[in-house]
Amino acid sequence: MSDRDGKLREYREKRDFDKTPEPGPAAPAPDGEEEQRPRVFVIQKHDASRLHYDFRLEVQGVLKSWVVPKGPSLSPKDKRLAVMTEDHPLAYASFEGSIPEGEYGGGAVIVWDHGTYRNLKLDDTPPQTMPEALASGHVLVWLEGQKLRGGFALIHTAGRRPGDEDNWLLIKKSDERAQPGSDIVGERPESVVTGRVIEDVKGGA
Ligand code: MN
Repeated sequence: MSDRDGKLREYREKRDFDKTPEPGPAAPAPDGEEEQRPRVFVIQKHDASRLHYDFRLEVQGVLKSWVVPKGPSLSPKDKRLAVMTEDHPLAYASFEGSIPEGEYGGGAVIVWDHGTYRNLKLDDTPPQTMPEALASGHVLVWLEGQKLRGGFALIHTAGRRPGDEDNWLLIKKSDERAQPGSDIVGERPESVVTGRVIEDVKGGA
């Protein structure tokens, strides 16, 4: 079993790919020099049992994933809870559609934002790769999306309460792309791929 198969085991075990239209875990990904090239990020709005946003960053051939109940913010004052969840296959970044009710994560999914990101920790002394930044609990990335641009920090806050091991905070950095007081998830509800809102997908439009 390859390293990538190992990372995606939880993803595979939760799903029945005969029933869900979500991609299987098979898709291969390029390796080598990955820290130097722009990598994919995606935020999917997901109307599961509770509406949430799934924030995903490409790292070593998989999508590292967090569930963000309130979604991202462009205001540096907002500290958004981001609960780390299982790695997803790279192909998931373009998934938009409806997961059947009764299946894991059943409900509508739209691609709320996508684009590329850079690891700003590469500029540290010494530089930190994404796996190193994740292990240290302090990720710093520059997003180039259609709705989200600029620096964002992901900070692992685990250890404050029992059961909070997967808790991180997603926080906009104060830079020229910050928009204090804005409400980007309220202002821009639509898919960046199809223009549909989540209700369109739920209704089968
Ligand atoms: Mn989800």
